[in-house]
Amino acid sequence: MFDRPLNRRFDARKAERHGETVSGFLSWQDMPELAQVTENPATDRIGVSVRFERTDDRVHAMHLAFDGTAKVLCQRCLEVMEVDMSGACSLALVMTEAAIERLPDGWEVNLLDEDGSVDVYRAAQEELLLRVPMVPKHTENCGLIVNQDDDPVEKPNPFAVLAQLKGSK
Ligand SMILES: [Zn+2]
Repeated sequence: MFDRPLNRRFDARKAERHGETVSGFLSWQDMPELAQVTENPATDRIGVSVRFERTDDRVHAMHLAFDGTAKVLCQRCLEVMEVDMSGACSLALVMTEAAIERLPDGWEVNLLDEDGSVDVYRAAQEELLLRVPMVPKHTENCGLIVNQDDDPVEKPNPFAVLAQLKGSK
């Protein structure tokens, strides 16, 4: 399903008439900003499906679905951890800033290029960036949580305290 690279550009109107779901992969080297905030090698891939549709409320929509994981550093133990990037989103495609005003509420917007095409790599990268946690932390099996079983705050050794008490008598 995601065995070939996804086309970078789609003519939005044509794709909308076509109406089919197109699937392929993007690699990290296609998304330099995402690459900057993640630890994935440039050859790592994420599966993307894209479908264009004119909705009942007359929005030119692009639906994206993702399948893959990003690698980020746990900010507690600094080990690499995987974050699930799977999920879907819908964007309203508009030609002009003015058209944004006319959209029904609640739509995320993607501004089409002058020729009416959409750069799916750019749109996907923006969405994926939102899915990268600001301060990623392991929720379980964090290296540092395990170590924290040894209380990091130094408690006085009870035997030393006892010795001190004895010595003071
Ligand atoms: Zn951790």
